Amino acid sequence: MSAAINTSLDIENIRKQFPVLHQKVNGRDLVYFDNAATNQKPEVVIRALVEYYSNYNANIHRGIHTLAEKATKAYEHTRHLVKEFIHADSEQEIVFVRGVTEAINLVAATYGKAFIREGDEIIISGLEHHSNIVPWQFVCQDRKAVLKVIPVKDNGELDIDHFKSLLSDRTKLVAVNHASNSLGTINPIKQIIDLAHANHAVVLIDGAQAGAHLPIDVKALKCDFYCLSSHKMFGPTGTGILYGKKNLLELMPPYQGGGEMIKSVSFEKTTYNDLPYKFEAGTPNIADVIAFGKAIEFITAIGKEAIAAHEHELLVYATEKIKSLPHVRVIGEAKEKVGVLSFSVDGIHPFDIGQMLDARGIAVRTGHHCTEPLMARFGVEGTVRASFSVYNTKQEVDQLIEGLDRIIKFMK
Ligand code: PMP
Repeated sequence: MSAAINTSLDIENIRKQFPVLHQKVNGRDLVYFDNAATNQKPEVVIRALVEYYSNYNANIHRGIHTLAEKATKAYEHTRHLVKEFIHADSEQEIVFVRGVTEAINLVAATYGKAFIREGDEIIISGLEHHSNIVPWQFVCQDRKAVLKVIPVKDNGELDIDHFKSLLSDRTKLVAVNHASNSLGTINPIKQIIDLAHANHAVVLIDGAQAGAHLPIDVKALKCDFYCLSSHKMFGPTGTGILYGKKNLLELMPPYQGGGEMIKSVSFEKTTYNDLPYKFEAGTPNIADVIAFGKAIEFITAIGKEAIAAHEHELLVYATEKIKSLPHVRVIGEAKEKVGVLSFSVDGIHPFDIGQMLDARGIAVRTGHHCTEPLMARFGVEGTVRASFSVYNTKQEVDQLIEGLDRIIKFMK
């Protein structure tokens, strides 16, 4: 990990914007370190939901009345914000979905159906979340294609030399995450994309753990598909986006059939709507999409660089401190990491640690983090994971370390 960068963020002021943080859990001030699972929501996001339902709840696109127009404008404004946020060429390349899981399933079901043939190969990595494994298994089963996996090195980084050896003219698609939810590893996605493109394979990037932490420029990356979940970016659950290059989205068949995704329907023939609506069948998640827009504005107002620098400082601080505790094994020490600290304690089950930390008001995640193959790679059933956000403080890290110290002394 590189040296800490000092940031001038007013963390106290940021914390004030998150109502949920100001509560006691089990008699202690809440310390929320489960941000990789979902992060908390600022007041602007919560207010946007209440405002929509209180003032202009209406179905979008079809109505000409004032409320419908207002709701449509707000919904489409989020599409515009996402487009700017990830530097896409056009709003037509932004498809609203339920989140990263649905975005990957959409590509697997549609691109997979149209373009993957018997004997083709799909490459994923050993760092993937189940949602970037299972949909490709579906495709491979259905198309008689072959799934290949980039191995993970002992420090939690991908073995890029091995990746190069996996690439061939049979490779049709590469799907990897931008950052690992279990270990925090930031993957060299530009290099992965360039290598895949040199082999004429398309690339999907799972950006679930990047949305709130890392700069994303789909044009500079030249990636073909990029997926985001709103709820990991200070926005509501139940929405997110699939970015796809326009020429690819145009070639792909629709995902679901229904209203909105059609141009015209007769019993003999249906024609499909233009992008991005071809992939947005049915009434969408209007309120959450609108509030997602507020979350993007929230991130942009603070600045991703400042957020990343603050979280990095917490990660470096926490990693150093945790390593001074006896019996602790840090899992995942890649040079480039987002604010995720995974560890195990010899002889104490992660679940017990999680419960004992919860008794002290400290929320961490324990288990396999939906990455069972990765846990197997490191020979553990699961880990304890503390993941940081912009509103976390060094004082909270101290509370975690103190809690762990006591648990280890008590249990050992
Ligand atoms: N990929 C990664 C790396 C994740 O961390 C997650 C969520 N834990 C997902 C995919 C799935 O995202 P969602 O549950 O929002 O669809």
